[in-house]
Amino acid sequence: MARKFNFSAGPAMLPTPVIERALHEMLDWNGSGMSVMEMSHRGKEYMSIAAKAEADLREVLSIPDNYKVLFLQGGASSQFAAIPLNLMGDKKSADYINTGMWSKKAIAEAKRYITVNIAADTSGNGFTSVPTQAELKLDPNAAYVHYTPNETIGGVEFDYIPETNGVPLVADMSSTILSRPLDVSKFGMIYAGAQKNIGPAGLTIVIIRDDLLGKASAICPTMFNYATQAENDSMYNTPATYSWYVAGLVFEWLKEQGGLEGMGKINKRKADKLYAAIDATDFYASPVAINGRSWMNVPFTLADAELDAAFLKGAAEKGLVSLKGHRSVGGMRASIYNAMPEAGVDALVAYMQEFASNNA
Ligand SMILES: *Cc1c(COP(=O)(O)O)cnc(C)c1O
Repeated sequence: MARKFNFSAGPAMLPTPVIERALHEMLDWNGSGMSVMEMSHRGKEYMSIAAKAEADLREVLSIPDNYKVLFLQGGASSQFAAIPLNLMGDKKSADYINTGMWSKKAIAEAKRYITVNIAADTSGNGFTSVPTQAELKLDPNAAYVHYTPNETIGGVEFDYIPETNGVPLVADMSSTILSRPLDVSKFGMIYAGAQKNIGPAGLTIVIIRDDLLGKASAICPTMFNYATQAENDSMYNTPATYSWYVAGLVFEWLKEQGGLEGMGKINKRKADKLYAAIDATDFYASPVAINGRSWMNVPFTLADAELDAAFLKGAAEKGLVSLKGHRSVGGMRASIYNAMPEAGVDALVAYMQEFASNNA
């Protein structure tokens, strides 16, 4: 069996040892005589799986005790509505930093529930940079400040954590969570859909500071209410049990990689190699400002777009798949999340060099 190097932006690759372990445990989890998929979420076996996953995530991310971790459904996109509904309290507005397609979606949804102030907007340069701290027009009376630390489509990543002077900072970390160490205490809330760097689709993780719970609007759906979900250990209803279990296997795997310190070093090396290959020749170009280049999603263009189809075809023949760029950006996009082995990046770099010399 040959596993491909899959550069998809999401759902993305999972670590092969995680899939092998899931396969091994598929029919009979730990002598229980059943698959995890068949277990009651309230039974002692599944409760132990769920608790272990949370404990390992807390350990890997060094999540302080005054934060709750929720294992929800509905994707990061559901959080776009849940955030204003939970966090507005008696405030009238929230600040949003607009750096790309996912910020825009979060803003459009939030506007249905709260007045949105745009604290910064990089659409003027086609979302190819991050605003500086000095450029952020923050309102001290905002309910919260929302931003997207890594824009998955544009490949633009903040190289700093915005300072909000006490206003809760809310981050959509769908495509960058667990890529390197993070100081969770700087955030009011972090959320992420699982299918990029956590596990299978169907699971959404919310990490929220205790003092932000219990302020939900009366119209907030019960399923969206963070306080309700926290009181019920994310089991107000049936959770995405299998995705939660596989996420737990990923957290164990992360610990084996040296935790986020170890993972961060590998990810930095992978990104540096790929950007170096792009910058080495005029044959390729990165649209993103150097200080805003993402470690996880690397868009690049060929100087001659007529060669795009041949590039993709040749790549696929070498087992390098899902490299086509998002339709809004064009060109290529290589998503190199935690589970993309360094050998996959090496193979892509070698192919890029070969393709450039054959077509220059
Ligand atoms: C993928 C992605 C989303 C959407 O996630 P869903 O789980 O599909 O709702 C939102 N924000 C960012 C930054 C993403 O990368």
